[in-house]
Amino acid sequence: MSIDLPNDSAILTVQNLSKSFGGVKAVNNLSFSVLQNNIHAIIGPNGAGKSTLFNLITGVIKPDMGNVQFLNQDITSLRPDKIAQHGVSRTFQNIRLFPDMTVFETVLIGTYQFTGGNLLPALFRTKTFRNKESEAKERIEETLKFVGLWDVRNEYAAQLSYGNQRRVEIARALATNPHLLLLDEPTAGMNQKETKELMNLFSEVNHQGITILIIAHDMHLVNSLSNQITVINFGEKLAEGPPELIQNHPAVLEAYMGRAEAHA
Ligand code: ADP
Ligand code: MG
Repeated sequence: MSIDLPNDSAILTVQNLSKSFGGVKAVNNLSFSVLQNNIHAIIGPNGAGKSTLFNLITGVIKPDMGNVQFLNQDITSLRPDKIAQHGVSRTFQNIRLFPDMTVFETVLIGTYQFTGGNLLPALFRTKTFRNKESEAKERIEETLKFVGLWDVRNEYAAQLSYGNQRRVEIARALATNPHLLLLDEPTAGMNQKETKELMNLFSEVNHQGITILIIAHDMHLVNSLSNQITVINFGEKLAEGPPELIQNHPAVLEAYMGRAEAHA
């Protein structure tokens, strides 16, 4: 879904965000902006605070300090379903699929959960609900065709290949019609072919006017897909800029490669 903003304005701004777990400063006074229509990558070693950052942006956890602005509105204190309704959608680092649901059902249930689907109208089958339901089903059909899962819509999601399970998650996130899509290591554990296919998919998503914030380890993917990179280490911003600047940044290479190897 495209929105009426100039391309160089911020869709998301994180200001002085901090979150500690016990003594660990997972995210430490972090500030950055994601510009409209960008594919913005977050990189950093294991434990740098990347997933925590996503949990803070999407309201899964509350920050100790700082705030998150989305489309010039403060979304810091909102519940996850409210944040989703504003147009922020995500996938998780670990695939989360119910074992006994088909691809179609998984995406359908996902849209109800993320859009704060209210149970009462569903029980009474009101006209508004039926309209919403058929709108949702159309949107899901469109999304499943778009990500290449329409042919397997009646198969159990959890029994698909790893690559296709990721696609189910992406479809579930896209079916909510987001302005901003957050992807947490979506290509981890994938072979080159699957990675390439997903990269193409992300480019297409972006061409539809959806801004992407992606956590990734694969430097090739990051350099060829994104137009802005924020490097974080120990919860703090280490560097920021376009890929050509970041990939040759000595401090980044040392911190990122050094610690990444230690975790390999
Ligand atoms: P990344 O995604 O960059 O690998 P995380 O955000 O998962 O890093 O973790 C950052 C730090 O916060 C790590 O030290 C991790 O152990 C810690 N952490 C993350 N979530 C929790 C939690 N729910 N409880 C306690 N510690 C956590
Ligand atoms: Mg993580």
